[in-house]
Amino acid sequence: MSPGVLVPLRVGHEPGAVDLVAAEAAAGDFLAALGIELDGEGLRGTPGRMARAYAEMFRARPFDLTTFPNDEGYDELVVARSLPVLSVCEHHLLPFVGVAHVGYLPGERILGLSKLARVVEHFARRPQIQERLTQQVADWLHTQLSPRGVGVVVEAEHLCMTVRGVQAAGSTTVTSALHGELRANAASRAEFFALALRGEPAGAGHGAAEVAS
Ligand SMILES: [Zn+2]
Repeated sequence: MSPGVLVPLRVGHEPGAVDLVAAEAAAGDFLAALGIELDGEGLRGTPGRMARAYAEMFRARPFDLTTFPNDEGYDELVVARSLPVLSVCEHHLLPFVGVAHVGYLPGERILGLSKLARVVEHFARRPQIQERLTQQVADWLHTQLSPRGVGVVVEAEHLCMTVRGVQAAGSTTVTSALHGELRANAASRAEFFALALRGEPAGAGHGAAEVAS
């Protein structure tokens, strides 16, 4: 192993033991309690499909976090835009879906770009709230990569807002979390938001709920 190469960090959380048989039985009881009859052909397999769908939504694919020495001394922002977010709100267990824009100011090490999407997935695939997801991605990159700055913006539509309650179809929620120079330096912060929200309708990003770090 050459100098400067670190052993990649294996990233993955073990969800509690998954018992699909018990989950399927419980899903069947849940639907029956809501007055949904399961004897039709289309619905017969539904409890099992529900159990497997939720198990999938709560499981992130493990990955190796590989970082590289920043030999070129690249010191400008790296921003990956429109990384997919597929998560489940912990209040209603309904999905929220959208995109994340993740940026960092490199320090001594840089990260394979595809890994930014995997970090988002890692924190999204569990019962979540959008504010915490945003902060966890920012905190984790700040800790693992020691960059000079980190910025994360998440824009998502919450089905619990769309299909129930206020029924605000099409509305999205924007959250952001910043660390280091992106938080402390107004010009760096503005540059990050300009790159992250490029192409958004005018005014997007205003009123974003900034999660305190
Ligand atoms: Zn909800």
